[in-house]
Amino acid sequence: MNDIESELLEIVTQVRKHIEYQKTLGVISIELVPAVTASPTDEADAQSSVNKAQASATKRGNVPITEKPGPCQSAGLTAVREELGNCSRCKLHKGRKTIVFGEGDPNSVLMFVGEGPGYEEDQQGRPFVGAAGQLLTDIIVKGIKLRREDVYICNIVKCRPPNNRNPEPDEIAACEPFLLKQIEAIKPKIIVALGNIAAKTLLKTGEGITLLRGRWQTYHGIPVMPTFHPAYLLRNPKDKALVWEDIKKVIMEMEKIRQG
Ligand code: SF4
Repeated sequence: MNDIESELLEIVTQVRKHIEYQKTLGVISIELVPAVTASPTDEADAQSSVNKAQASATKRGNVPITEKPGPCQSAGLTAVREELGNCSRCKLHKGRKTIVFGEGDPNSVLMFVGEGPGYEEDQQGRPFVGAAGQLLTDIIVKGIKLRREDVYICNIVKCRPPNNRNPEPDEIAACEPFLLKQIEAIKPKIIVALGNIAAKTLLKTGEGITLLRGRWQTYHGIPVMPTFHPAYLLRNPKDKALVWEDIKKVIMEMEKIRQG
């Protein structure tokens, strides 16, 4: 077998594994988008349009969106990202380096919602990539037995609050509509709210996470499991056992969904 054949075999194996995994989550069909082969003329036209759009955006004083949708971005999520644009709807835009939109499987059954990006996330433009992110990844991989890319991860606010302070009510109010649109695009069956701000925002309650955690709630009809934020667990490792109790409930609910 030559290199190309080996590579093709590897791709087919990976695709088959992914489809098997999706089947375990209850996915019964996958929408196929026809591939479009661009002619050299089309490519030249497309590049010209991009150049014009960028020139026009720069003229308006906006920074054009140069980030490409990730391999897992759906049309619905791409539309939400485009609507968000180079957002300056709240004061958090002033100190950010990057808008941290979210990442993961756009059709995921399971969605994690945190509070807001920290330093590392702001630098990299990805949610949960610092030490707390590693802990969340462990929860997903070692606890739930999924790959990180099989779930969707995002935050209540998409820009880093200065000095990692809590997002303020006006900032949450400005950003939450985009979270809701993300949820509408992804249609998760379960949301895990990570920490006080995420739980209070989603559940519209003044109750703290210590009281909320471990009890199923709903957000726009979707079951929500509130639990402690991984950053809290780094400071209070003794409470990892409580989070594990909450995650076991999530695993049981996913099993029920899988069985229909
Ligand atoms: S936090 Fe949200 S609303 Fe505020 S500037 Fe960033 S993307 Fe816009």
